This record gives sequence, structure tokens and C-alpha cells, in this order.
Amino acid sequence: MFKGKAAVVTGSTSGIGLSIATAFARQGADVVLNGLGDPAEIERVRAGLEAETGVRVLHSAADMTKPAEIADLIALADRTFGRLDILVNNAGVQHVAPVEDFPAEKWDQIIAINLTSAFHTIRAAVPIMKRQGSGRIINTASAHALVASPYKSAYVAAKHGIAGLTKTVALELATHGITVNAIAPAYVWTPLVEKQIPDTMKARGLTEEQVRRDVLLAAQPTKEFVTVDEVAALAVYLATDAARSITGATLPIDGGWTAQ
Ligand code: NAD
Repeated sequence: MFKGKAAVVTGSTSGIGLSIATAFARQGADVVLNGLGDPAEIERVRAGLEAETGVRVLHSAADMTKPAEIADLIALADRTFGRLDILVNNAGVQHVAPVEDFPAEKWDQIIAINLTSAFHTIRAAVPIMKRQGSGRIINTASAHALVASPYKSAYVAAKHGIAGLTKTVALELATHGITVNAIAPAYVWTPLVEKQIPDTMKARGLTEEQVRRDVLLAAQPTKEFVTVDEVAALAVYLATDAARSITGATLPIDGGWTAQ
């Protein structure tokens, strides 16, 4: 479906980003993976994906808190593939604490990775997409782009910011064949969710089972975690020609959470 096209997916060494990058590679796009982790494990994933799909797969360790490294990530795709058709802003981190105890450096880190990095990738990618007269920008937002939960001040602020950035850039690019959308999943079972269980247990004085049932899945009417494959399938759809009239949207994939 995307043969001859090129995709960059930030934060794609794990979880949702890896699933999205895998889905684009399986549909024929050359892919630049990005993210942190054990270099040997990342190389195993990169080489495995390339062998399985036959597309070219690169990895960039660009740190999403560093604007110069973010610019290099986009330049790498343009230099290697001569184009950039799909940009997925997915890198994200979480910290859970009451606002008065929220460490200022955690606030800065979450805003940088979950929001500001998307500004930097977009500003570098737009000239390339305008040159091509087409492009797809897909931001992994969250149900927390639409509603809030306590103890996640930085994350909720960043995700609401992503929804605003999505709308603004969609308007600016509407006549250039470039769409800009955000995907807003509820809880997806990934390392990001698993890691916040101990802090949530501490912040709310709950057991692990209570955090899963009474916090994570409390607002999800289906009482099931969303899967990474479901999120990837929506990203693939948004990148197709059939989705050309969808732009500026923040699309929930949340088992009914935000319908309440
Ligand atoms: P994850 O922890 O599995 O993956 C996060 C990715 O971001 C990893 O590849 C990691 O290396 C990368 N990353 C972190 N800091 C980075 C940095 N400084 N520079 C470059 N890469 C960095 O998490 P996930 O659950 O797959 O989350 C992916 C996205 O989905 C995030 O934006 C998250 O907010 C969003 N999201 C997740 C859920 C969920 O329930 N898991 C729900 C809604 C939205």
C-alpha cells in the first residue's frame, strides 16, 4: 500500500510506536525507527523488521528533548529515502504525582518529549512534504487530550497541547495535500502503562489489582485494554488516500471512555 513511501515514527523502539512502525513497514514503506533502549535489542528489532518486510529500516537514537537531534532525524529520512511521506509523533513518557509534589524537572521532560518534540519534527518535515505536495502527520495523543485524570498534570497538559497543535497545523497545511491528525487511545497495555502502576499505587494507596481495575480500566466501558495493533491499524488508515478529508481531528480509540 505504501511502497516507495517513507515514514518516520518517533518513540518506536517499544509499545505503540513499534507496532505503528511495523504496520507501515508491512505495508511497504521504508521506515526510520527512533527511540531509546538497549542497542543490541534495537538492532535485533531493526534487522528483523527489514528481513521480514524487505523494506529499508533505519534506527535513529535522536533524543526527543534535543531540537538539533530532532532536526537530524527528519534530515536522515530525507537524505536516505529522498522523501518523507508519513511522520508519526509518538514518543512519550509519563509521571504520576499530585501537582504540589510534581518534580519540576519531570514537568519539563514530559512537555519536551510529549509536546515540544512534535513541534520540532513538524517544522522540519513540512518543507519536505510541501515539496512533494503530499504528506501525513499523525500524532499519538491520548484520551488525556480530551479529558483529564488527577495526578497527571504534565501529561494531560502536553496531550491537550498536541490536540491544539494538530488542529493548527492541519489548517495551515489543508491546501497542500497534507493531513494532520491525532489518535487518542485510552489505556493500551505497554511498558508505559506498566511502569506507572507502582507510582499510582503510592499516590492513591491502592494495590496493583485495584490500580488496574479501579483506576486504569475504571473509565473504559469495555473493561479491556486497547491493543497496540488497533492503534496501528488506525494510523495506517489515516495515511491512506481514502482518509484525505480527515484532518485536524483527534480520534478517540478508547472503548467509549470519552463518550461518557
Ligand atoms: P512505551 O514506553 O512503550 O514507548 C515509548 C517510546 O518513546 C519508546 O520507544 C521510548 O524509547 C521512546 N522515548 C522515550 N523518551 C524518549 C526520548 N527522550 N527520545 C526519544 N524517544 C523516547 O510507551 P507507549 O505506551 O507505547 O506510548 C507511546 C505513545 O502513546 C506515548 O505518546 C503515549 O503517551 C501514548 N499513549 C499511550 C497509552 C497507553 O495506554 N500505553 C495511551 C494513550 C496514549
